[in-house]
Amino acid sequence: MTAAYTWNDHTYDVVVVGAGGSGLRAALGCAQAGLKTACVTKVFPTRSHTVAAQGGISASLGNMGQDDWRWHMYDTVKGADWLGDQDAIEYMVRAAPAAVYELEHWGVPFSRTEEGKIYQRAFGGMTKNYGEASIQRTCAAADRTGHAMLHTLYGQSLKNAVDFFIEYFALDLIMEDGACRGVTALKLDDGSLHRFRAQRVILATGGYGRAYFSATSAHTCTGDGGGMALRAGLPLQDMEFVQFHPTGIYGSGCLITEGARGEGGYLTNSKGERFMERYAPTVKDLASRDVVSRAMTMEIREGRGVGAQNDHIHLHLDHLDPKILHQRLPGISESAKIFAGVDLTKEPIPVLPTVHYNMGGIPTNYHGEVLTKAGDDPDAIVPGLMAVGEAACVSVHGANRLGSNSLIDLVVFGRAAGLRCGEKLEANANQRDLPKTAGDDHLARLDKFRNAKGGTSTAKLRATMQKAMQEDCAVFRTGETLQSGVKRIAEVLSGVSDISIQDRGMIWNTDLIETLEFDNLIVQAAVTVNSAANREESRGAHAREDFPNRNDDTWMKHTLSWIDDTGAVKLDYRPVHAYTMSTDVEYIKPKPRVY
Ligand SMILES: Cc1cc2nc3c(=O)[nH]c(=O)nc-3n(C[C@H](O)[C@H](O)[C@H](O)COP(=O)(O)OP(=O)(O)OC[C@H]3O[C@@H](n4cnc5c(N)ncnc54)[C@H](O)[C@@H]3O)c2cc1C
Repeated sequence: MTAAYTWNDHTYDVVVVGAGGSGLRAALGCAQAGLKTACVTKVFPTRSHTVAAQGGISASLGNMGQDDWRWHMYDTVKGADWLGDQDAIEYMVRAAPAAVYELEHWGVPFSRTEEGKIYQRAFGGMTKNYGEASIQRTCAAADRTGHAMLHTLYGQSLKNAVDFFIEYFALDLIMEDGACRGVTALKLDDGSLHRFRAQRVILATGGYGRAYFSATSAHTCTGDGGGMALRAGLPLQDMEFVQFHPTGIYGSGCLITEGARGEGGYLTNSKGERFMERYAPTVKDLASRDVVSRAMTMEIREGRGVGAQNDHIHLHLDHLDPKILHQRLPGISESAKIFAGVDLTKEPIPVLPTVHYNMGGIPTNYHGEVLTKAGDDPDAIVPGLMAVGEAACVSVHGANRLGSNSLIDLVVFGRAAGLRCGEKLEANANQRDLPKTAGDDHLARLDKFRNAKGGTSTAKLRATMQKAMQEDCAVFRTGETLQSGVKRIAEVLSGVSDISIQDRGMIWNTDLIETLEFDNLIVQAAVTVNSAANREESRGAHAREDFPNRNDDTWMKHTLSWIDDTGAVKLDYRPVHAYTMSTDVEYIKPKPRVY
């Protein structure tokens, strides 16, 4: 081990990295199963990005009319453009109602119907009777659903004696012979170093939206878990599928929830035309996000954008009753005022498609166990390692996630991971010693960056990466833009060796932490743009102008991507699970894209 650094050692049955909705739900489940559980988080739990989730959480409760988990399953499979694993999708939609009632009983203050039931609103792609018409399936606590969930889950985790390590930055996974044995972390406020040994590590580190210039996600969404997995020699899956949310506020990128359209909001172009009627005649403004984002981009390209530069679109809520807006959408009324200077009861909000969600991530099965391809086995389990939430790719969202399906993914698969640990692990079981050198390479990486004396600041490299991703790996892609992106990102990656850091301290060294975060982002940007350049078809959020059709014969498969120390990206594939979890429902065969 590098001199001058010393480890503080800890032993747990399970260590969860991340305290967003998925991490807290997993930690809570493990603790309830009697396992000694730690939760390591770089931000205070209730500051995790889940706190910003507005619109709601999907479940076929049927509070606003008849609903059925099979309809929810169909919508999710179709929304995913048939790239989702249908066994995992069945698992999620069937477990969804119980998971929402569990949240209710733990104290989530959901909005209510007149009869006192959980209020549900319409969301894009959620339909009744297999696509017949929109349905109200998204359970909401006004437009602050994630906030309500996170506070409740944190309270419950404390009650169940989860040990929190707050403002600890996880560095890397401790791997031994292909198995995960633990994780290391830097405590931000005193610079101490920690080595956690565990029977299982659960990565719940969220998405990597900050690889792009304009994103609705928090600045902390740097995909650290994905970076750790890649450095451990593991693949990420389906990274080319990046969701653009149709309604980020023009300029700031701050989100206006899809719930706004669910409550009756609609989009117009410079002619005042409700153009979604042309693109998606049945569900119009409530088509899935990929469809709406593409339609908006087409309108702008064809010169029908609004504003002085004709470069954005209007979202109208001014026709709705101000009382309803106040009651159901108070948060976005405030955001529109602050970030666009607009009183949404009187004028439209200027909006633009903005990076919002990563469908790709660390591949897992529906128990949360991490998968890799070993020889001929595409579903080989990585012992000791699990992943949940946006960091993972189960894959229930396939090529495009439906709105409100992430919050349900967090709690359903967080719960599943807890159940799996309860089933597979023995509490306080003896754990072998870690190898003497465990974590040495993590320290070498930390030390390298801490003492970096190159010529380019992290901020500059990060900005170059974000601009390249924004320009070359956007809503619409071509072979040409993607090749340009591959080249630009490779240049940024090679620039990491010339990085410069000013602060050499160990305490609250934001320069160092931002560099470690950037180092996690850049490898994911590289596998994203390479995976996108490789997939020669259009599917879900991946819209290739040079390959406008979906091609199931060649591309009905998950992309796996690895990156080595030299920055070389390797790609391979896993089959999509063309089977369901039970015999209660049949595999839903791919249909052409008609909206
Ligand atoms: C503005 C916005 C609104 C949204 N609205 C909705 C919605 O209405 N409905 C819906 O279904 N989805 C919504 N989504 C998507 C959804 O909220 C996210 O996908 C989800 O909250 C991610 O949760 P998570 O548990 O995976 O991670 P996060 O909530 O992002 O939490 C990540 C956790 O990992 C920790 N962490 C990360 N790196 C490290 C590290 N190196 N060391 C230690 N800890 C680390 C962080 O501290 C944090 O606790 C929204 C997303 C955004 C951005």
